[in-house]
Amino acid sequence: MKERLVETLRELLTINTSNPPGGEEKAASFLYGLLKPHIPDIEIIASADGRANLFAKIGGKREARPIVLLVHLDTVPADEKEWSFPPFSAHVSEGFIYGRGAIDMKSQVVCTAFSLLELVEEGVVPENPIVFLATADEECGGKFGLCYVLEKKEELKSAAFVLSEGGFVIEEDGLLYAQIALSEKKLSQFVVKAKGTPGHASAPHGDNPNEKIVAAARRILSYNSPLRVTALARSYLNGILKGSRVGSYTFRDLREAVRDRRFVRFLVKRPDLNALLRNTIALTILRGGEKINVIPSLSEAYFDARLLPDQSHEAFFKKIRRLAGPEVEIAFTEGGISTPIPSPKRTVFFRLLKEVIQERLDCKVLPYMTAGATDLRFFRSLSIPSYGFFPLVLSKGEAQRMHGVDERVSIERLLLAFDIQKEIIRRLMLTRV
Ligand SMILES: [Zn+2]
Repeated sequence: MKERLVETLRELLTINTSNPPGGEEKAASFLYGLLKPHIPDIEIIASADGRANLFAKIGGKREARPIVLLVHLDTVPADEKEWSFPPFSAHVSEGFIYGRGAIDMKSQVVCTAFSLLELVEEGVVPENPIVFLATADEECGGKFGLCYVLEKKEELKSAAFVLSEGGFVIEEDGLLYAQIALSEKKLSQFVVKAKGTPGHASAPHGDNPNEKIVAAARRILSYNSPLRVTALARSYLNGILKGSRVGSYTFRDLREAVRDRRFVRFLVKRPDLNALLRNTIALTILRGGEKINVIPSLSEAYFDARLLPDQSHEAFFKKIRRLAGPEVEIAFTEGGISTPIPSPKRTVFFRLLKEVIQERLDCKVLPYMTAGATDLRFFRSLSIPSYGFFPLVLSKGEAQRMHGVDERVSIERLLLAFDIQKEIIRRLMLTRV
């Protein structure tokens, strides 16, 4: 079985589902073929040409709200020139499988699918119905993915619990920390547009949209949002840092640390931790001008901002509008706003995850907030308890390859993740909610 799991993951990694354009239909059909013999209640939900989602359901002992195991089939693109091995070749080297999507999140797709396969074969009948949902378009807003499926499958809107991505088991200085993501930051993406008078570059006239955009962007990016200690960030950072030296500073409690310059300096080197403590803004797309000797008439800059869960979009936007100044227009982008509600920690699900993880790993289990946005935001905004976790052990360096260059998964750790994932799913099946 273990060889089959590795080979299945490799096959899935060779199906290029970079989004845009996506092309998840092939991956959905591949999984359909794998699961259909074991889970007859399964269908492909096509949402556009080449775009498709997979919905599979294992009936429960009674009619009840489903527990949803949510994964996505698309990946971010990969620039082949930068990679050591072609990103869609699933090349194996020194115990690692290389491939775009190896961590985010085809390993979780395959481990979840195989867990269900085996558990059904073993005759486990779930208390609540279990839905395995593999979506398209997670990386680009979800219009062809979860948004589409939620309209077709009403029962999802009353799910009892959703388990998806967002947390891993992080290895830091030889210790392990399981991140159970209860929450994620709010997506707050906006575009700044400037208009001007087109003309020849040989006679600058002072009404150049590129210059307006540069000035506005500079003001927006110079804004350093204040550090905020949320309960979640505090329990997570205290969990991983208590008693350790960060630079010349000994960390005791986050409340105290944020007031110390040495800790604030340390945060500059740790963008992953910095993002848990403040709103962030990144300038991601700049567009303006086509020819070197022509002043354009329009210029645009796209910003991806992420807010802490207790911050309001309106207040943030007001601030940004003021910084951008009167020379430019500013608007939220379509689908660029999310308002996920943090999930509670005191649930049977948190206890279950903690129990299974600690039976198998010597590890702290900490509530966590994902800095990125995931499909879980759609469930979180419906107040459905939604956790992001996959028991894959990752060092900081490995985690950084996700969305980066040479994304890869260790075969040994993949198999360990599968064992733990299967046990988590078995106990979810035995849970009555
Ligand atoms: Zn993902």
